[in-house]
Amino acid sequence: MDSEVVHVPAEWRAQHPHGAHLTGMLEYRALYEESIRSPNTFWAKQARELLSFSHGFHTTHIGSLAKGNNAWFLGGELNASFCCVDRHAIADPDRVAIIHEPDDSCDASREITYGDLLGHVSRLAGCLRAQGVQKGDIVTIYMPMIPEAIFAMLACARIGAVHSVVFAGFSADALRDRIQDANSKVVITTDEGRRGGKAIPTKAVVDTAVRDCPCVSTVLTFKHTGGDVSWTAGRDMWCDEELKKYPSYISSEPMHSEDYLFLLYTSGSTGKPKGVLHSTAGYLLGAAMTGKYVFDIHPKDRFFCSGDIGWITGHTYTVYAPLVLGCTTVIFEGTPAYPSFTRYWEVISKHAATHFYTAPTALRLLKSKIKKRDVEEFNMSQLRVLGSVGEPIAPDTWKWFYNSMGDQKMTLTDTYWQTETGSHIVASLAGVTPMKPGCASLPCFGIDLAIIDPVSGEELKGNLVVGVLAIKQPWPSMARTIKGNHDRYMDTYFNVYKGYYFTGDGAYRDQDGYIWIRGRVDDVVNVSGHRISTSEIESSLLEHAETAIIGVPDELTGEAINAVVSLKTPVIPLGIEQELILHIRQSIAPFAAPKKVFIVKDLPKTRSGKIVRRILRKLLTGEKEFGDISTVRCSSPKNEKCQPLILRL
Ligand code: ATP
Ligand code: MG
Repeated sequence: MDSEVVHVPAEWRAQHPHGAHLTGMLEYRALYEESIRSPNTFWAKQARELLSFSHGFHTTHIGSLAKGNNAWFLGGELNASFCCVDRHAIADPDRVAIIHEPDDSCDASREITYGDLLGHVSRLAGCLRAQGVQKGDIVTIYMPMIPEAIFAMLACARIGAVHSVVFAGFSADALRDRIQDANSKVVITTDEGRRGGKAIPTKAVVDTAVRDCPCVSTVLTFKHTGGDVSWTAGRDMWCDEELKKYPSYISSEPMHSEDYLFLLYTSGSTGKPKGVLHSTAGYLLGAAMTGKYVFDIHPKDRFFCSGDIGWITGHTYTVYAPLVLGCTTVIFEGTPAYPSFTRYWEVISKHAATHFYTAPTALRLLKSKIKKRDVEEFNMSQLRVLGSVGEPIAPDTWKWFYNSMGDQKMTLTDTYWQTETGSHIVASLAGVTPMKPGCASLPCFGIDLAIIDPVSGEELKGNLVVGVLAIKQPWPSMARTIKGNHDRYMDTYFNVYKGYYFTGDGAYRDQDGYIWIRGRVDDVVNVSGHRISTSEIESSLLEHAETAIIGVPDELTGEAINAVVSLKTPVIPLGIEQELILHIRQSIAPFAAPKKVFIVKDLPKTRSGKIVRRILRKLLTGEKEFGDISTVRCSSPKNEKCQPLILRL
């Protein structure tokens, strides 16, 4: 394993405008030890420091991982919207809460102060109440990345409603299923969204979806592009007119710590998406604490997370972490490629972002398109912290990000976590942890990691061990259940290895105790007794192609490796299959060489950009039933030389 260490640049600390939250690794280690040795004392202190309870909690934690019945901060009352809005609006109403950068660089960006945010959120909260939304009801939000989407989330929280944000790229069918699952009375949307120069017909999708949702009595629509929409009288309301009827301040509803804050579906990479429910206090604390320590957020910072609010990254690090900590969140409606591949640089320099948090899938695209001279003109001097999330980041992509955007002066954190964990669980702390390219590094506070031998089920102690990654102690921001299916919750996370939370990912702990995420454990291929993680083979080809490695049953070797490859070149060179096989033989091992290589135009991916191997596996093994493919997007191959593999989707 590559163990190159990149130390935090000396000037990072020296030039820090506010002074970093942690002094260094000694402090991290001391605080981490305390968080594991005395979790209740640790978490209680953090909760009192970072959140505002209107009524203090009397019990920090009850429950266990074995029973999957954890509850935190019992007896406490608070409101997420109060914590994210009111307390900053009172202290500093003119501080900017949200900066919105539109899809088109020629359109004006918008700034919303905390004082204004309080008014927007209150009015929408009043309107929701008037539509009959009560505490505990689930409101569905289907919106592009605009400030109104954040108003909607916080307005729900303000009156104790649970928000269910559905990514505005989902089809009407997927939206319909989620609205029905949530039994929502109200759906909030826009006339349209705009992405990459194209209009996204959000209202039209909602119209189709709610045809089969008798539970929906109101569709609230924000005017955004001014595009034409069809209208159902008695059900549809324009927010812009409606909201004028409500006061610019309504008080926030005191919620119990354990009341649900939101419902959100996982990406669906490994099966039917799970609708996970997160609690108010525990979730918010996870967001606040990782925002503070992993990203070193300070109130004057401008945090730019490119994650869409339709995913957990957007929930925790576009909305809740920046706002609960009172800094500015920069939200971007567009794509990294429109109108040009320098768009992220433009957004960062224009808004003087201090942080930039994105996903390897975007970085890979940019790495193949951007030359150093293309981005030299941009002033990135305010940028302090870079972050990556969503899948393992290959060391060469890590280095490219660090060198080309970070100019080797910043700190880059690879953050490993899941929809279900609510906030980071393994990450280097910005400006503190010595970094290893491609490595998620060390556990976050309060996260007691275990690497388990998948065969014996025993924990593998010490360093230089490989196994499945699990967590030994409960932590506040863990999901509380899967909506309508607590058995699936227990079976997926708690019944696999009794007493542990099972992440589903494989990991290696190196000689320094650093954690390397090796991809999903069901993505391990066993060829003649040699176990190899699919991601390891995939990473070796990253330079040339985007690849999904699939294990298929083989009479001789137990499993055989098949590679499904989408090349980065427009023309498919003759003999490329053999070349790729040879490359893997040489760079990894002969047993890792694929038995078959399929060249395709595009790989099936979730809408959050992750390859859906389970579908390819089914195709390659001739299964007809694909299971839930609602979260899969895939373009069909135009190039005739491509195998018709993906077309069969
Ligand atoms: P589903 O649970 O429905 O199969 P999903 O696991 O892709 O979907 P998410 O919760 O969005 O849904 O993603 C979490 C997963 O993403 C992790 O379990 C891990 O496999 C991967 N992941 C996230 N961040 C990282 C990272 N920094 N390094 C490696 N893998 C990561
Ligand atoms: Mg998952």
